[in-house]
Amino acid sequence: MESGTVETSSAGATSEENGSSPERIEVHNPATGGLAGTIDVSSAEMVAETVARLRGNQPAWEGLGVEGRYRWLGRLRDWMLDNLAQIEDTVQAETGKARGDISPELFYVIDLINFYGKNAAKFLADETVRPHSPHVLSKKLIVQYRPHPVVGVISPWNFPLAMALGDSIPALQAGAAVVVKPSEFTPLSLIEIIDAWKNEVGGPDVFDCVLGTGEVAAGMIDHVDHVQFTGSDRTGRKVMGRAAETLTPVSLELGGKDPMIVLSDADLDRAANAAAWGSMYNSGQVCLSVERIYVEEPVYDEFVAKLTKEVSGLRQGADGRRPEKDVGAMTSPNQTAVVEDHVNDALANGARALTGGRAAEGDGDYYEPTVLVDVDHSMKVMRDETFGPVVGVMKVRDSEEALRLANDTRYGLAASVFGEKGRAETIARRVEAGSVNVNDVVSNMAALGVPMGGWKQSGIGYRHGEPGIKKYCRSESVVVTRFAGKREPSWFPYTNSRRRLLDGLLRGVTARDLKRRLGRRG
Ligand code: NAD
Repeated sequence: MESGTVETSSAGATSEENGSSPERIEVHNPATGGLAGTIDVSSAEMVAETVARLRGNQPAWEGLGVEGRYRWLGRLRDWMLDNLAQIEDTVQAETGKARGDISPELFYVIDLINFYGKNAAKFLADETVRPHSPHVLSKKLIVQYRPHPVVGVISPWNFPLAMALGDSIPALQAGAAVVVKPSEFTPLSLIEIIDAWKNEVGGPDVFDCVLGTGEVAAGMIDHVDHVQFTGSDRTGRKVMGRAAETLTPVSLELGGKDPMIVLSDADLDRAANAAAWGSMYNSGQVCLSVERIYVEEPVYDEFVAKLTKEVSGLRQGADGRRPEKDVGAMTSPNQTAVVEDHVNDALANGARALTGGRAAEGDGDYYEPTVLVDVDHSMKVMRDETFGPVVGVMKVRDSEEALRLANDTRYGLAASVFGEKGRAETIARRVEAGSVNVNDVVSNMAALGVPMGGWKQSGIGYRHGEPGIKKYCRSESVVVTRFAGKREPSWFPYTNSRRRLLDGLLRGVTARDLKRRLGRRG
């Protein structure tokens, strides 16, 4: 093993305890090709044992209440704040990110701990409901929110901590126990956090991970009570199919093909800088990446010139703790092939690359930041999720054409509109997507108070805000009888006088005109 690499066994029961020798996965640093660490794959028995153990510990965790649980999560926050550089080193080693890509990820996770710590009590408070009709007037109606005992989180490689922890934190804060199956390409930073939870924070044994490929995740689905999946729509379908076998509820946060609309009254410098960052941040490996841009005709040439200048000036490559590069590596080798396929398809069908357009030469796995023009919706690059440092730009006659093209997609995760505030907001409200940013990109991810979720094939369910924690709970309606005799009129024995009483009640309560109330036809 190289120096500085991480060797771990899966959390939960160890393979040695199981008397078997584990299968191993090597985790490579995509920026250099070097080994970043190795993991032991969790066996099916280990997955079942881990979930069973967490399930046993969950009632005590739920019993701590919102405040008690926040105290523990707050300690994890403090540990993270005390160890930022070390955590960033691990994320960088397993993803090949530029250093500057990492701090928003940690900011998000820590902010989320504080957000749900502060708001969970309000979001999960009991609700008292007024009886809707005289025949339930004698009841006190309460809705309480109780967590799913064990939530299984399946996460992708593009933000190994933001996705894995971002989904775990509200579930833990809701009182669930959580088991995470991180991406096999980037499990190391999550393992470090779980290790800190257990050994540095000393947190209750309600948070763990299992390790391996999709097969391990699929097995985990059979044991947990709720599945939170973040990844591609292709895998999302498989997750939903597997969960259907046990009728386990799922939330799916899937891919996107986010459009940006640039109106003729936009601040073109801001729009071009936003487009460059929004499409190239994290090498474009962001579900909320700007993947396609529609620009109104009068400002098209100027916008494209500004965007191309900004993108062609980006510095790409491996840096260390000091940010010296803007665009890092492609984290998953599979994704580079998708990016190459989309760009080659576009170029073969008449598109032009104004900058980039090919994989970068040298060590590591890099694709050059690429701006494509002369694209159209027959091309993969404008239809399917590229998930790389590539953006296609189209000229449109007016905002109506921009809207039609923006909505011409099977995805609906997020979008952005740049222009005069009022006009841009009007257009934004007509985009078919779960979140739309006006004069900004990706910023909805930081606005934790509003829900974020995909329309169409971009997902099911929401993260953030009240829905982002309630989804980890089941609602329990408690109907309390306040005044009662020995029997209700609808109970046994059935008699003619009771039938008349009940029919009268039925007419009296439900009829909306006097005649029918009195038992006559209308
Ligand atoms: P992926 O779907 O290939 O893998 C995601 C996770 O699913 C991994 O942990 C993988 O091991 C697991 N998995 C694979 N096969 C499985 C199966 N049959 N059953 C259960 N789990 C299985 O996704 P990826 O390539 O890791 O991530 C990129 C995708 O994630 C992109 O489409 C991106 O848009 C999406 N994403 C979405 C959001 C969002 O919030 N909507 C956020 C980040 C990433």
